[in-house]
Amino acid sequence: MKNILDFSLTELQQWMKDNGEGAFRAKQVMEWIYKKEIWSFEDMTNLSKSLISKLNNNFYIGIPEVVEVSKSEKDDTQKILLGLKDGNVIEAVLMRYKHGNSICISTQVGCRMGCRFCASTLEGMVRNLTAGEILSQIMIGQKILEDRISNVVLMGSGEPFDNFDNVMKFLLLVNADYGLNIGQRHITLSTCGIVPKIYELADKGMQITLAISLHAFSDEKRREIMPIANKYMIKEILDACRYYIEKTNRRVTFEYSLVKDINDSKEDAKALSQLLKGLLCHVNLIPVNEVKENNFKKSSKKTIEDFANILKNYGVEVTVRREMGSDINAACGQLRRNYIKSQSK
Ligand code: SAH
Repeated sequence: MKNILDFSLTELQQWMKDNGEGAFRAKQVMEWIYKKEIWSFEDMTNLSKSLISKLNNNFYIGIPEVVEVSKSEKDDTQKILLGLKDGNVIEAVLMRYKHGNSICISTQVGCRMGCRFCASTLEGMVRNLTAGEILSQIMIGQKILEDRISNVVLMGSGEPFDNFDNVMKFLLLVNADYGLNIGQRHITLSTCGIVPKIYELADKGMQITLAISLHAFSDEKRREIMPIANKYMIKEILDACRYYIEKTNRRVTFEYSLVKDINDSKEDAKALSQLLKGLLCHVNLIPVNEVKENNFKKSSKKTIEDFANILKNYGVEVTVRREMGSDINAACGQLRRNYIKSQSK
């Protein structure tokens, strides 16, 4: 049995032909699934009985089970814990904004990048998600919100570039007019900085926003919190970003999680400004979400403001990420981890 959500239109058309059906049936099935949100072949009323039974014998529609929904009391954020067919659980975060709904989705079960402040990576990587599993988080999100999702960020658990092929296929499906039809400019991919993959993405000619988790201005400092910094130097990352900008004309985002006494001093802010000056970019400061497994503490409000002002004064565009859902374990991997621990007791 195959997950039909892993199929592109061309692949499903081929399957139809191979199985004695008209190729046009592929689009009909996809319209039921993606546009009408009908997730049972029996309910697809314009298909013949024999096609329905062929579909049932070969495919399942891999919509995850909603294991838990936690709503923030403070803001319009909900964290959803989703159960996959093989029993693994993943998490996604839904956010309602005035300009539309956003979802933050996972690309792997767990993560093997080992960033020291992050809860997703504490138990390593279990497996990659398939394109359909990545996509289905948005589908179930729309069902829960009873509304369309217009913005997608690949910033949940996992390193998208460590699951490159499936993520590329997901990008094709999410953007397709027969699929969820979400514009490339409304999709952000966040990476800890796997340099060769930045070049590879740039060469795909897509218009998605690239976000780099930088978190430090020097390699030495970065190595203390991100193991990937042992492999790629900041200079190599910035060169790759320049190439991405040149190819796509898109502004790159740098994520910088502020951790008390680690990377939040005025000197850090100045050095970061020097590093990024003149680059078509934008810095997103994230007050670190405190995770109980480590000792990283959030910087004070004043420190965060000062840090942002220094960047601004140097002409670097900056925003401070609103702390959404901090009361519902919305930091990467926290909810999944608490769930797994509660199950194993
Ligand atoms: N692997 C990708 C995407 C997932 S993490 C990446 O590294 O970019 C999404 C963002 O949240 C990254 O910038 C990550 O460094 C950051 N992050 C993870 N845990 C965090 C925490 N506890 N507090 C603040 N930011 C965190």
